[in-house]
Amino acid sequence: MDNNKIMPSVFLKKGKERLVQSKHPWIFSGAIEKIKDVKQNGETVVVKSFDGKELALGAISIHSQIAVRIWSFNVNKKIDDQFFTERINSAISLRRNIINFDHTNVYRLINSESDLIPGLIADVYGDFLVCQFLSAGAEFWKATIVEILKKLLNINNIFERSDTDSRRKEKFEEKSGVLSGIEPPDFVEVVENGLKFLVDIKSGHKTGFYIDQRDNRNLIKDFAKDKSVLNCFCYTGGFSLYAHSAGAKSITNIDSSSAALKILTKNFSINNFPSEQVTNIEGDVFQVLRKFRDEGKTFDLIILDPPKFAESASQVNKAARGYKDINLLAMKILNTGGVLFTFSCSGHITQDLFRKIVDDAAIDSGRTVKFIRQLTQSADHPVLSSFPEGLYLKGLVCEVT
Ligand code: SAH
Repeated sequence: MDNNKIMPSVFLKKGKERLVQSKHPWIFSGAIEKIKDVKQNGETVVVKSFDGKELALGAISIHSQIAVRIWSFNVNKKIDDQFFTERINSAISLRRNIINFDHTNVYRLINSESDLIPGLIADVYGDFLVCQFLSAGAEFWKATIVEILKKLLNINNIFERSDTDSRRKEKFEEKSGVLSGIEPPDFVEVVENGLKFLVDIKSGHKTGFYIDQRDNRNLIKDFAKDKSVLNCFCYTGGFSLYAHSAGAKSITNIDSSSAALKILTKNFSINNFPSEQVTNIEGDVFQVLRKFRDEGKTFDLIILDPPKFAESASQVNKAARGYKDINLLAMKILNTGGVLFTFSCSGHITQDLFRKIVDDAAIDSGRTVKFIRQLTQSADHPVLSSFPEGLYLKGLVCEVT
């Protein structure tokens, strides 16, 4: 730390220095005794114990309950261009080890806290990079980060999709638009494991695509050959294209978004996949599954990949009922020996609770369920060991008899 300069500081309450020792990257406002010399939201602060011992450097978020996000536990580090260059470089080198660029050009390059850059998401879509600046600290360093990304990557087109809930919690306006290079076309064509996908990076969900499901989509190929497949919450058809490529007999897709289903149809066509055995249903999965149950319609392989049902801890019970409902319905319409790929992306639903929910559904449906795989988010969405909140996606592959 530069001792000649007065650094803004955050003093923790007595005893709260333990939080910093566990290397968790968040400091909640409740742990703070006083804040000194802070002039600008997002600027770098020294985190100190109640008696003034320097513990870490972080970004202050004036309006958020997460009052400080730690940049470094080394108080001698300078938070500057060099710092972000190092952090971004190590995120890039991890992806070199886990992405096969021969057949995939869509991946998460920077995963916020878990890549030690809290508040920053950066996803690569071929020649485009899509960024989210979700915290005051990330926003503070935006121009620096954009310049470094341009320098380190072979990508000049950077688009911002900071139109999220977490941004609202920081009292920043939602923002999306070009940060560098050209305006993206309505659909950017990308390749994932050799399959082509059209992605609407300007207004699609998240940064345009559910990149976190790549490894799980690939796994569906082992189960899809000659099977009748039902893809619930299909979005633009991720699991369906993989299932088709593996020789599925028929594919039924359900999503409430007509825009997503239109892209799904285009995705089948750009891969030259015939659409005769593909049925698209625009509707509510809860209702459509009930209708299938009442009609006695059955499938060999069902995918349940719903949106986040629990946005906060207070919604866990209601969310659990929702998960149980769809899992129960799916089990009722699976053929004997059928396979269920079931997911929850709610961070507040733990792995244990999710298994319990699926077990409850098994009991109520009268089926025997074996967990044959336990899944999580793809490898380019790493989880920092000191940040368990980074693990949000849970999946179970179930054999249902
Ligand atoms: N499996 C997909 C991602 C699913 S995202 C992939 O691999 O790309 C969740 C999807 O659920 C979104 O497309 C959203 O439009 C849809 N959705 C949300 N609530 C729904 C409901 N009640 N019924 C049907 N679809 C719903």
